[in-house]
Amino acid sequence: MQVVCLDLEGVLVPEIWIEFSKRTGIPELSRTTRDEPDYDKLMRFRLDLLEKKRLGLPDIQAVIAGMGPMPGAREFLDELRSRFQVVILSDTFYEFARPLMEQLAMPTLFCHRLEVDDAGFVRNYHLRMPDQKRAAVNAFRALNFKVIAAGDSYNDTAMLGAAHAGIFFRPPAGITGEFPQFPVTREYAELMAAIQAAAKQL
Ligand SMILES: [Mg+2]
Repeated sequence: MQVVCLDLEGVLVPEIWIEFSKRTGIPELSRTTRDEPDYDKLMRFRLDLLEKKRLGLPDIQAVIAGMGPMPGAREFLDELRSRFQVVILSDTFYEFARPLMEQLAMPTLFCHRLEVDDAGFVRNYHLRMPDQKRAAVNAFRALNFKVIAAGDSYNDTAMLGAAHAGIFFRPPAGITGEFPQFPVTREYAELMAAIQAAAKQL
């Protein structure tokens, strides 16, 4: 029995904050944990900025809906879900992901949540737990599933390492040298083939 765990941003949909920053013309929103390693400070900065710009959740969701999934993502995911149990593990928030998940036919997503006030402004964020990608893979293993995981970046390496098989999809330059144990794929057909090959070995 196998479960495929997929990262969301950079694998099926664009990097939400970066794309959102481009589409709204607010460059400060493209700051990431590389610019501000303290995640809580980064999130407070983002939420303050959204409020200053008077962007409430409905405005944010409308922008995110317009991004759409990456080309070919829906077809890839539909095919993958017809062959495997698939769970998406992401560090985004349900409220941000929802317009994109609707366009992906509502696959199972484990992520975090936002607190929104009656006026629609985002007041706070709640991480369900730290290091949830790795914890989810370990929980599936404890349920006697074989786990194949795919992701694009540093925040996926714990998940890829915890899985029976880990695969990179379109990783940034540099990371592959640090983690040579994970095969690199760049197109969905390649990723599908790598997942199926791993599944046969398990
Ligand atoms: Mg990613």
